[in-house]
Amino acid sequence: MKKEKALVVFSGGQDSTTCLFWARKQFSEVETVTFDYRQRHRLEIDCAKNIAAELGVKHHVFDMRLLNQLAPNALTRDDIAVKEGENGELPNTFVPGRNLLFLSFAGVLASQIGAKHIVTGVCETDFSGYPDCRDMFVKSLNVTLNLSMDQQFVIHTPLMWLNKAETWRLADELGAFDFVREKTLTCYNGIIADGCGECPACKLRKKGLEEYLAIRNGEKQPY
Ligand SMILES: [Zn+2]
Repeated sequence: MKKEKALVVFSGGQDSTTCLFWARKQFSEVETVTFDYRQRHRLEIDCAKNIAAELGVKHHVFDMRLLNQLAPNALTRDDIAVKEGENGELPNTFVPGRNLLFLSFAGVLASQIGAKHIVTGVCETDFSGYPDCRDMFVKSLNVTLNLSMDQQFVIHTPLMWLNKAETWRLADELGAFDFVREKTLTCYNGIIADGCGECPACKLRKKGLEEYLAIRNGEKQPY
């Protein structure tokens, strides 16, 4: 374990909670930040708060309502239904530049709290068309943040090349499988744990979970 501080970009979902467990294994001190942009479900913020409290990590919540003002869409408005992207179009949960903004604000906070490491659960594998989830973007922003603040930040993306089943495996390896399964919120309909089972986020989570459980039970060959 490195005697260094890390800041985890944290939403209370499966991916960022797995990243939080990962960071706690890697670094001696860990803090978390959640961006409040008037998400479809306020429960997301409460969920993140509860997880941070239970794990005893400091939790910062930033007001990012600005994002909602910039890009009203299905994640931030109740009157717009969640629709999956078709024919190569972006899904309507897309907020342009969201990760650019989040990671930049995380960089400013990291600088203020003396954290050299920034951890984010972005992932290129189950890439649903978000350009600022891609590895090349994160590497590019890392350089920009370092130049802008004269810092030596390291942005970590432990999930970048994992599919959903592999993310479950990582949680399991970190001893966090049950915690992640029971306490995180991924569902667009705001239902904790296994969720509503119907929305795109639930379907993706469930598919990965079933795939991982089949591997764990020896019904399927591991990767
Ligand atoms: Zn759901």
